Amino acid sequence: MNPKLSNRINAMATSATLAMAAKARELRQEGKDIIGLSLGEPDFTVPEFVKNSAIKAVNDDYHAYTPVDGYGDLKQAIITKFDRDNNLTYTPTQIVVSTGAKQSLANLAMVLLNEGDEVLLPAPYWVSYSDISKLAGGVPVEIPSSIESDFKITPKALEAAITPKTKMMIYSSPCNPSGSVYTETELRALADVLINYPDIIVISDEIYEHINFTENHASMATFEDMYDRTVVVNGVSKAFAMTGWRIGYIGAPDWIARACNKMQGQITSGANCIAQRATITALENPPSKIKYMVDAFKERRKLILDLLSEIPGFKTNEPQGAFYVFPNITYYFGKTIKGKTINNASDFSLFILEEANVATVTGEAFGDPNCIRISYAAADKDIIEAMKRIKEALA
Ligand code: PMP
Ligand code: GLU
Repeated sequence: MNPKLSNRINAMATSATLAMAAKARELRQEGKDIIGLSLGEPDFTVPEFVKNSAIKAVNDDYHAYTPVDGYGDLKQAIITKFDRDNNLTYTPTQIVVSTGAKQSLANLAMVLLNEGDEVLLPAPYWVSYSDISKLAGGVPVEIPSSIESDFKITPKALEAAITPKTKMMIYSSPCNPSGSVYTETELRALADVLINYPDIIVISDEIYEHINFTENHASMATFEDMYDRTVVVNGVSKAFAMTGWRIGYIGAPDWIARACNKMQGQITSGANCIAQRATITALENPPSKIKYMVDAFKERRKLILDLLSEIPGFKTNEPQGAFYVFPNITYYFGKTIKGKTINNASDFSLFILEEANVATVTGEAFGDPNCIRISYAAADKDIIEAMKRIKEALA
């Protein structure tokens, strides 16, 4: 805390995922052999056809500012993608392209929240939802779930969390960090609660849409009675391994998209022009083009679950999507190992880092203090070695 800085930044927590990745990097520079399972980042390279279109864009002299909300033909490719993959219909003014889904989420919070507005966060939730909401004056309200319910919330819990101050709900499916995937029936049951509260806006973060082992992706926006107040957030970071290229987008009610466009016009302008051109190519291709990555993640899910089952005290659900496992590790709370007492998930994650040289993220950052998040977007050999080290450190 520095009093010379704004209250806004002083009140904000550092992103736990990025902080852990930075710490792992630092330790590596000190010569430690750290296996990084903290960051949710595909270890694949960008597909060749996407790379080629970026190279072509450079050679075609794309260089200038783009329209703030994205190139018209990119917006058209996004509209076609929504129609093809999600059965969702949008017009160009309903689409806004941003510098990553993270900016899409920040735009939404900034244009929708007033001081004191409550934001429902089905827990566990992605780490940045809470601080982005707070930055915009919102008050995060966690809706608890547990491993017993596959980390999904019930309609009853949703209803109980709603107050006259509730402005929006943000959730991801497939979920980061739990890997849970809401079925259409489960989403419908939540929508049946929400239809009684017409002022609540739903932000449906679908960035892991294609990394889904159930092959069944449902979206709240496809319900006719929710379409007008649901914003779909998506992007190319995960599906196309384009995390550093920084392209995200929304499909939204017209009035919300226009407001995001206005906000972005004052803050960052349009997203990177070369990455936008490459995103057109990425989205024009059917999801089958990236199936090799999804298949690999599915194999690794099995690998990590099998290895975790051999370590006492790790209780896991079977994640249906994304590339994380979110084990409950309360078994270790109150235990002292190698002179270090583990009282909570942060202690546990730190213990694993120091004693096993494996970077994970504490569940506290995701609104569940009983768990840690382990990313399996890593090579098989790293997953095997990491689990071996964890097992030995805890033995
Ligand atoms: N939402 C979720 C659930 C995520 O895991 C991430 C990961 N970075 C993002 C949004 C942000 O993605 P982007 O790289 O497009 O900013
Ligand atoms: N979304 C990824 C994660 O959860 C990337 C890091 C981040 O943007 O926070 O690890």
